[in-house]
Amino acid sequence: MHYEGTIYRPPSEANSILLQITTGCSHNRCTFCEMYRDKRFTVKEMATIMADINFAAAHFPHHRKLFLCDGDALVVPQAKLVEILRAIRQHLPGLARVATYANVKSIRFKSDEELAELVELGLTMACVGLESGDDVTLTAINKGNDSAQAIAQCTRLHRAGFKLSLTVLLGIAGIARSEIHARETGRVLTAIDPKFIGALTLMLTPGTPLFADAEAGRFHLPGARGVLRELEIMFETTTLSGGLFHANHASNYLPLRARLPRDRERALSEIRAALRGETSLKSESLRGL
Ligand code: SF4
Repeated sequence: MHYEGTIYRPPSEANSILLQITTGCSHNRCTFCEMYRDKRFTVKEMATIMADINFAAAHFPHHRKLFLCDGDALVVPQAKLVEILRAIRQHLPGLARVATYANVKSIRFKSDEELAELVELGLTMACVGLESGDDVTLTAINKGNDSAQAIAQCTRLHRAGFKLSLTVLLGIAGIARSEIHARETGRVLTAIDPKFIGALTLMLTPGTPLFADAEAGRFHLPGARGVLRELEIMFETTTLSGGLFHANHASNYLPLRARLPRDRERALSEIRAALRGETSLKSESLRGL
């Protein structure tokens, strides 16, 4: 496979074929993110993508899932994306699912008909970095969209037939807006009603603007207790028709996995036990991205 730079994928795509059709992120300005800072955003050459699809067909014919990398495959022009998905379907007929990261800004450039066409061609899962539902926080981190835009564009994906997996970031609002961030995120998650939610805990990365803010005393990361309180508020305020809420990423202090609405009370009692100090939390040295 012709990979350029570090390849990132959601934890759920650990066993997927990783097909890189773009390099970098079309936005690349979030203050906490260093994933693609070293990469210029490009859409890869069709010949390279087709060679990789043929390679995958020859070497991974029994894989059930494929993930389109890098940061934002939906920004690829529709005709090219359709051609890629048709080739995937033709050469890897055993796939049960094709997924991608999706940026709220890029979804806007696809019409409802185009989104439905992608689903029809097998691209059925979109992983969206919501980070927060708090507009002040979204502006502060330079996310490039507000909460109303996130709700509107994720709703369009939903209606087109995409399953949605949303990521939220505990700690991203700092101590100052911690509780507002948690409550507003619950509001937006409820409005979008995704099938999957992944809560990660912010880890400051050297080289990012947010790291520099923290070093200069302009940003204060909540500690384990503050982050747990955010998780508690999110579980209190998020209502799903039926979805999985994971907080078992390596960055989290308290691993948690709950199906909502069924497991809400169990999740809340686990979080509250941890807040009372009755559960041991992951030590800082064992946390990772
Ligand atoms: S949109 Fe995602 S990949 Fe791009 S800079 Fe923001 S967090 Fe990073």
